[in-house]
Amino acid sequence: MNRRKFIKVCRALGIIIPLQPFLNACTNKQIFQNDSTKPVIIIGAGAAGLVAGYLLKQQGICIKILEASSNYGGRMKRTSDFSNFPIPLGAEWIHAEPKILDEIVNDDSVDVDIDTLMYDPENDYALYEGEKISIKEMEMSEDSKFVNSTWFDFFEQYIAPSIEKHIVYSSKVKSIDYSTDEVIVETHDSTHYASRVIVTAPIKILQQREINFTPELPKLKQDAIDKVKVWGGFKAFIEFSDKFYPALIGFNVNPPEHGEKLYYDAAYGQNTTHHILGLFAVGAASIPYVDLQEDEIIKYILDELDALFDGKASTYYVKHIIQNWNTEPHIFGAYVRNNEDWRQIKKLGESTNERLFFAGDAYTDGQDWGSVHAAVYSAKRAVKDILKS
Ligand SMILES: Cc1cc2nc3c(=O)[nH]c(=O)nc-3n(C[C@H](O)[C@H](O)[C@H](O)COP(=O)(O)OP(=O)(O)OC[C@H]3O[C@@H](n4cnc5c(N)ncnc54)[C@H](O)[C@@H]3O)c2cc1C
Repeated sequence: MNRRKFIKVCRALGIIIPLQPFLNACTNKQIFQNDSTKPVIIIGAGAAGLVAGYLLKQQGICIKILEASSNYGGRMKRTSDFSNFPIPLGAEWIHAEPKILDEIVNDDSVDVDIDTLMYDPENDYALYEGEKISIKEMEMSEDSKFVNSTWFDFFEQYIAPSIEKHIVYSSKVKSIDYSTDEVIVETHDSTHYASRVIVTAPIKILQQREINFTPELPKLKQDAIDKVKVWGGFKAFIEFSDKFYPALIGFNVNPPEHGEKLYYDAAYGQNTTHHILGLFAVGAASIPYVDLQEDEIIKYILDELDALFDGKASTYYVKHIIQNWNTEPHIFGAYVRNNEDWRQIKKLGESTNERLFFAGDAYTDGQDWGSVHAAVYSAKRAVKDILKS
């Protein structure tokens, strides 16, 4: 007898039944071999955690997402307070085909209505010390930019609504015991029981041993976690009263595998009359900014722009906002460096046993990492593995 029939029969017999246990019950549809009714617990509500939760929910699997901070989105953080269009403080460009947005939604009945645009390789040239550099050389020719939207806005509109009620905020996971069929997950003030767990906390969190695993993670995996180098990261947005800069201004980082730096027109293609210049710096290129106080940072930035643009930066300066990813709680960095050994990355993405899975921009199959789409694909893979387990 199913739940509905049972309730009908009880009603007909005049039996009063408490509804709460049913409302809380999982509908795992006997997907797991041990037929566990416990939810799949996902650690972290960034791109990977949200997509994993969304896809599992689409399969009728009961989920719970434990998020250390008070917001979802992780490194897709955005602010709507700085200008009249949303500003992406972390992930900004779509480093994949824009159809990735439909792929994420994974539902033909949903029309994904998000505008994107690409750069113009003929005109949107970049300058470095007065030299012209083509966009192709900067590896930006395939990238798209959101129009008056961001990665966060996309997730807010299409992914979060169906799963937001399953996110438990301010729940920093401290330990995961996956030694028995029922996985035990502990935060500072609560204990949760799961059929399966997907860890999506950034790799820095595991490097810093902020989550204690029982049994310990396999040595090969722990070694890979400890070996990979996470780049520091910094972004700034500066409003000017006039526009004096091109769409992209690339900088050479020496050697190139030590980081990336780019000034860019953040208002490019947006429906706005505001002039906002963005600064993106990761790895060695971020060091001059992350180590300074805020008033020193803006002075440093205006000085370097004044040198490039004949003092126009300080003349037209209006206001700024900065985001230091090295000090962002529960994140502590940008992403794993571009030139990391793919074999180490592959080890990060492997599941540990049939109960403990990993997803996120670093926990991939080793072919790609450090981006929202890489986090998304890793989440899809973890969900597929869970459905097989
Ligand atoms: C400066 C910068 C620029 C970038 N630009 C781009 C770009 O243009 N395009 C692009 O595609 N990508 C970009 N990226 C990379 C992209 O932001 C990330 O790859 C992606 O957002 C990572 O998603 P994730 O879910 O793997 O991790 P995260 O977004 O980091 O999510 C992990 C979540 O886990 C939570 N957490 C941590 N510890 C715990 C714990 N113990 N318990 C519970 N929760 C925990 C965190 O609070 C966080 O919400 C950029 C990143 C940075 C920093």
